[in-house]
Parts: sequence; C-alpha cells; structure tokens
Amino acid sequence: MKVFKFGGASVNSTSAVRNMAEIVRHYGCESLVIVVSAMGKTTNRLEQLVPGVRPLGEHPALLEQLRDYHLQIIRELFPNQQHPVYSQFDILFGQLQTQVAKQPTNYNFDYDQTVCFGELLSTTIISHYLNSIGLNNQWVDVRNVIRTDNHFREGIVDFDATSKAAQAVFMADKDCHNNIFVTQGFIAGTADKYTTTLGREGSDYSAAILSYCLNAESMTIWKDVPGFLNADPKYFRNTIKIEEIPYNEAIELAYYGASVIHPKTVKPIQNKDIVLNIRSFVTPEAEGSKIGPYDSIHPLTPLYIFKNNQTLLSILPKDFSFIAEDNLHTIFATLANLGIRVNLMQNSALSFSICIDDNEMLLQQLQQQLSAQFRLRYNRGLQLITIRYYTQQIIDHIVSGRPILLQQRSRTTTQILVQQHDDHHSF
Ligand code: ASP
Ligand code: MG
Repeated sequence: MKVFKFGGASVNSTSAVRNMAEIVRHYGCESLVIVVSAMGKTTNRLEQLVPGVRPLGEHPALLEQLRDYHLQIIRELFPNQQHPVYSQFDILFGQLQTQVAKQPTNYNFDYDQTVCFGELLSTTIISHYLNSIGLNNQWVDVRNVIRTDNHFREGIVDFDATSKAAQAVFMADKDCHNNIFVTQGFIAGTADKYTTTLGREGSDYSAAILSYCLNAESMTIWKDVPGFLNADPKYFRNTIKIEEIPYNEAIELAYYGASVIHPKTVKPIQNKDIVLNIRSFVTPEAEGSKIGPYDSIHPLTPLYIFKNNQTLLSILPKDFSFIAEDNLHTIFATLANLGIRVNLMQNSALSFSICIDDNEMLLQQLQQQLSAQFRLRYNRGLQLITIRYYTQQIIDHIVSGRPILLQQRSRTTTQILVQQHDDHHSF
C-alpha cells in the first residue's frame, strides 16, 4: 500500500485535476490511498462562512463564489450534465448552506463543522472523475477512520481506534492488488460523530497518520516544488534540492518553520521507518526528495528558513526583580493560555525577550494580562532567519549590514532576528 497526498494547489483547476489523474494512472496497478485537500483557497473562503464570523448578509455572495468555482471545474470535467456528480454536489452544497445558517455556538466547534466541506467537495469530484476515466476507486469518508478527541480545530488522534478502522476500511480485500481509495485530508471525526480538523495545512499529517496505521510501503507528497529545497524560492534565486533528509533533521526544519511539510507529519512515519517522498506534480518523472532513515542530509549544504512578520517583545519586571523561575512561570503560563508560540527567547538579569509571530489582538491581550507585574516593549516588522550548517561568511551575506536584534548559535544552527527587507528582496 502506498499513500499519496495531493494539496490544494495540485487540484485547484480543471487542468490540475487532469494532471493529478495522470499521476495516479501511472501508479494505477498498485494499492493506493489518495489523500486530497480542498481545492485551491477553498478553506480560506470557508473560514469566512463559519457562523458568527461575517454578517449573514455577506453569506450569499461568499457561497456563490464557492459554488461557481467548484461548478466550473465539474462542468469541464463532466460534460454530461446527467452525471451523478451533479446531484451529489447539490446535496453537499445544500448541507453546507444549512451549516452556515446555524446560530453560532462555540467557534472552534462551528469551524470544524463548516470548513470540512472543502475536502468533502474536492474528494467527491475527484473520485467521480477518476472513475469516469477508468481509474476505479472507492471514496472514503475519513471522519469514520481518523478518530480524534473533542479538541476542535486541533484534534488529538487516537491511534489505536484509527488503526483498527483504517485496516478494516482500506485492507478489507487483501487479495486485490489494485485498490484505489480517495479520501480527505485535514478532517477527522470524534466518537460521537462530530467533525474535527487537524490544524491548518493538516493534510500532510492525515497522510502520515494513514501511512502509520496501514504500515504503508511509502508516502508521497505531490507539490509545486521539485522537492525539499535548501531555501524558499521566494527568497532565494538559486536553491539546491536536498535529496536525502534524516527524520530528525526534517522534524527540526519543520519546527524552525520550513513550510514544505506540516510539523506533525514526520513522527508517525519515523515511528514505522516509512520513507516520505516529496515530489513535483509539475515534473512527476523527476526523483524529488526523500525523508528517511539517513545519517545526514545529502548533499550537505546550508539550509535557510525565513519567517517574516515577527515581533520582538521585551518583558521587564516593574519592581526590578531578577528574571527567575517565578517570573518566568507567570510569563509562560500567560503565553500558553493565549496560545502564543515562542519562536526564539533569551533572558538577561532584568529582562526576558521573546520573538513571536505578529498578531495585534494577541499582543494587546498579552500586554493586558501581564501589565500588573511587567513593563512590555516591542519591536515589529522583523525577520527571523534560521541557518543550519552556517559559516560566518554566509551569516554576513544574509544579514547584509542590518543591525542584529537577537542572535543565538549552536554548533549547527544559528538564529538571527533582523529588520525585514522589503517584499521583493531575494538573495
Ligand atoms: N485544506 C486545508 C488547509 O488549507 C488543509 C490542507 O490544505 O492541508 O489548511
Ligand atoms: Mg495545503
């Protein structure tokens, strides 16, 4: 069994879906579980339709956009208007309309019951399309397979229950060697049949969960880049493709913010020694990159991760007490409570500095909650640069004369906080 994951960009138009189908055809004689995200930017649009987010008066236009976008793709893929995909689309879209008209209850709960329609729509269309061109497959509602607790928007997976369900659904017919299944990324279900999600961009994680539960022979993420590059091509003109990446290295890179894979993806596949391929859906014949049981990255080259829109926050006790365990305890409890993730931290005797993603609302709340004991100073519009396998020459080149606000170095990794360059700057 192989597990494939196709993200939103790989199915965002009629030609993209056709291209994806050609990739599947190439592997059509094998057992495949195909995990698919919502088409294009559908999830962003659905977020606007979560009950309570926008005034009801804005719903018709938002729904219309989503409907037209999907229907255009359907019309191009299925010229025969009698095809059953049309009535299934109407049923799903009707359920979405009912959902978005509901009274708001709990935001996280409402969010999951709403955004799930992106993946339900995309997989319904794709499963029908593959069948229509002779790639016989079965559509699976993954909410009956990936089981989570009631943590809406960030479901915690019950791997035992999920393994049982996954094996029952995907491995029922062991003798058949050309089984193809199409199922949703990102979404899951609770024991009492509510929908949960696994966090934004969570489809990679869905594919990793299924790979783990099915002891897959390999997992492949099909992307719009040729593999795991040593830097984001948005910032670098000349990038190098890394051919082999050890599991640990991939986890560290995702932790520092490499956007090529979702941070939770690596652990399940590492636990079962499954190789994760990252390949291009634009040049599917090319090799791509492999994350697996390797000793070091190959080729060994510096790796760069840039995070923009960073804020540096200095937290100073008002009574000039030292920054020590009790102060830190208060600060961390407040950060955890607000769900603020710290990207870099450093302390001196009288101040504690953290680098966080910029978020006006959370910053205000943090200030309010800490203001009794602390003074806060902040600096916005910063860029956090992480370089693995750095040299001083590389650091000087990347910093290019900008004043450094904070820097940390270990033997392999340095992190540097500087003022952000304008958007078009590339190295
Ligand atoms: N559709 C979801 C999102 O846009 C999940 C994914 O694409 O991985 O976040
Ligand atoms: Mg995606």
